Amino acid sequence: MVDAVIIGSVALDSIQTPFGEVKEVIGGSATYAALAASFFCKPGIVAVVGEDFPVNSLVLLEKRGISLKGLKREKNAKTFRWEGSYEYDMNEAKTLKTELNVLESFKPELPEEYTNAKYIFLANIDPDLQIEVLDHVKNPKFVVADTMNFWIEHKRQRLKNLIRKVDLLLLNDGEAREFFSTPNLYRAAMASLGLGPRAVIIKKGEHGALLFTKSTHFSAPGYPLENIVDPTGCGDCFGGTLVGYLAKTDDISEGNIRKAIVYASAVASHNAEGFGIEILKKISITDIEKRFQEFRRMGEF
Ligand code: AMP
Repeated sequence: MVDAVIIGSVALDSIQTPFGEVKEVIGGSATYAALAASFFCKPGIVAVVGEDFPVNSLVLLEKRGISLKGLKREKNAKTFRWEGSYEYDMNEAKTLKTELNVLESFKPELPEEYTNAKYIFLANIDPDLQIEVLDHVKNPKFVVADTMNFWIEHKRQRLKNLIRKVDLLLLNDGEAREFFSTPNLYRAAMASLGLGPRAVIIKKGEHGALLFTKSTHFSAPGYPLENIVDPTGCGDCFGGTLVGYLAKTDDISEGNIRKAIVYASAVASHNAEGFGIEILKKISITDIEKRFQEFRRMGEF
């Protein structure tokens, strides 16, 4: 039995930032999200990799208590690859190359033991796959979905269909403006709520995150990091932590969602302090709690 199901990409990422570059390191939305969620609960991944994906990386995920029963390893196929770069403004990644490879023909299958999970994170991947997985979960209590500009541009209508089925939508500020064709984030948030979710979170990179419901609004600050090395995966860490914390506490009240947002900001800010998943491998729940308390003090006035 898993506490939270996470569908998303498991990737080999090549990343350039002003502080260095790495080639073909383990990444992907499901990888970051599951590692982040694993600080709080037992997540299960639904994803696919090719034969070229390093087995030791899978062992690493398993050691963190992540179920890989829903992860397929396709023979004679290549893993999804993403190449991105950041300039001094590290809030937005520039995608240099996306190679879907094994994702192109992926038919997700939900292991029986995942079908009773109450918490679902549809991390960034093809919205058709997000919908397919969601349709196989028996009785979800809280569904969170994330996406990115690639899918907004390629599958806008399917994405709209997906948003109608979820409880909480995550978007970053640029995506929200693009998707709802408005420069105004408040209007973009209201337009997303108009499609059906009970809440929307607009992530603003290093500047924090905004939560909107139809009648309330919460703003979490960004954490003032001394060193931002590589923001890849911060959005996925945010989503994974959010769902992991809600699954652990089994409380979907707005007050608890606000707490989950601060935990999510704590994990995401840690993640930006190193390349790839380097920091997620090192930190512990104690580091996360410490940063959570710093956030609490930052918000006092
Ligand atoms: P984030 O920085 O949180 O937005 O997510 C970065 C991760 O998203 C990287 O590890 C990539 O492998 C993954 N990624 C990039 N493009 C896509 C895509 N089109 N579909 C799914 N995952 C992607």
